[in-house]
Amino acid sequence: MNGTGVDETMKNAKSLNDNYGASPHIWSSPDGGKDINIGRQIFCNRSLNMKSIVAVGFDMDYTLAQYKPETFESLAYEGTVRKLVYDLGYPLELLNWTFDWKYMVRGLVLDKKRGNILKMDRHKYVKVAYHGFKELSKEDKMSTYGYTLIRDSFDEPEYAVIDTLFSLAEAYLFAQLVDFKDNNPGQVPGGADYAHMYKHVRAAVDLCHRDGTLKQMVAKDPARYINDDASIVPMFKMLRDSGRAIFLVTNSLWDYTNVVMNFLCRTQTSVGSSELNFDWLKYFDVVITGSSKPGFFHDENRANLFEVKPESGMLCNTDNGTPMVQVGSSESFPVEISEDGGCRVFQGGNVGHLHKLLSVESSPQVLYVGDHIYGDILQSKKVLGWRTMLVVPELEREVELLWESRELRKQLRSLRSERDTVEDEIHHRRWSLKFNAGHDENKQQESDLDEMEYQKDDVRLSHQQGQRELHQKFHKVWGQLMKTGYQNSRFAHQVERFACLYTSQVTNLSLYSPDKYYRPSEDFMPHEFDILGL
Ligand code: IMP
Ligand code: MG
Repeated sequence: MNGTGVDETMKNAKSLNDNYGASPHIWSSPDGGKDINIGRQIFCNRSLNMKSIVAVGFDMDYTLAQYKPETFESLAYEGTVRKLVYDLGYPLELLNWTFDWKYMVRGLVLDKKRGNILKMDRHKYVKVAYHGFKELSKEDKMSTYGYTLIRDSFDEPEYAVIDTLFSLAEAYLFAQLVDFKDNNPGQVPGGADYAHMYKHVRAAVDLCHRDGTLKQMVAKDPARYINDDASIVPMFKMLRDSGRAIFLVTNSLWDYTNVVMNFLCRTQTSVGSSELNFDWLKYFDVVITGSSKPGFFHDENRANLFEVKPESGMLCNTDNGTPMVQVGSSESFPVEISEDGGCRVFQGGNVGHLHKLLSVESSPQVLYVGDHIYGDILQSKKVLGWRTMLVVPELEREVELLWESRELRKQLRSLRSERDTVEDEIHHRRWSLKFNAGHDENKQQESDLDEMEYQKDDVRLSHQQGQRELHQKFHKVWGQLMKTGYQNSRFAHQVERFACLYTSQVTNLSLYSPDKYYRPSEDFMPHEFDILGL
């Protein structure tokens, strides 16, 4: 277990107290590297010495490019609804539906067959369960998910995990369709069951990503859909100045990658200009587009590696990155390699190609920064042994709320311990009564016990109410992203297991020295808390 419990929170809260409101310093500035407010800190699960990292790689979408969910996810939602109506025959009234982009959160699990949306803890114990938008009663929740054997699964194909921000719109639409089906039996085309409705939504979302529904709109007006971040270029410069190779591995294709990277790396003078250029490539050593992660991370994946001509987007065959002579051509190479060994752009391939292009000798020399726990982090770490940093934009707000709720958490801990004490005392007295049957003072003991039962109920209710209040402070339905009751959430557990580092924004990297030795906090077992006074 990593030390991320209540007391860790208090420790963090202290540094928050010291640092909140302080504006973060960029490491490249003269006074850099100090006073990093906790919402922008990099947290460490496994030690990572940046000195041993020779190449730093980035995912693009939702890592370098932070999409604005209120516009981008709404676009995905509306595009999906249109496809459901016009391509799959869903009723026209879906076109009037609206999307609450704040409703769904990462880490939720969709039970496709039952039409339920679940939040679970690290033991895969379902703590919050909704059918569409209707909360499941405690009894229904227990009878459906309360058994250990069921708890072992919760993965594809019966379940879908919402582990990327791209999935928030489809999860919301699924919940709406579940409600719709329940209230309007017979109106769903072909009488599709919940699982088929999910399949339809998935297919429609997938198409929106592939047929230009989303990308054409973003390309027309990137500022409407992507957050501006002037600190991205200084971060690239800092890492390059520190001698690291920099690479990009994205599932987006070249044309779209170029649009997004132009927007993120544009200079003051180019703001407002719609002309695309390739200046941003100077910050990179290798760019791989259309990478098909997570398959990309498997060395045995034989995907061809094509070189992309940036100007035309034309693909040229390569032999493991070396341009190939075309049959029947006297020309040596169809792709010019710049004299200064500047950045080359590819499509496809696998991690073996990338290591060769970067002259990386071993996997632990690579740090990869991504947003997708499965596609970017789990696979690159588990399969390959790359070091990983997960970007969790939700963390900034989560930390802020933790700070605001520290008094309530303190009260809850003391209520919990009061409840345990009263409960233990009741058990103890009841046990003694059994052995003292017939004694005169038993009557008094019974009445004291009744009094204590009332007291226990009072404390239990106050505790429950406080817990609910705390839960709703974070999110009215799903509560805290990283916690489920007193346990770490399943999402938090995955972050802890697979991400060496995690942080709210990719550019938090520039708040630390590029040679920093990241060290995890000490682990604590439950038996250590009282002894060590934690
Ligand atoms: P990355 O995060 O930079 O690797 O890029 C993610 C890419 O995957 C973006 O181009 C997204 O539009 C695309 N994408 C996300 N979800 C889906 C999907 O469900 N189907 C197809 N493409 C997707
Ligand atoms: Mg991504």
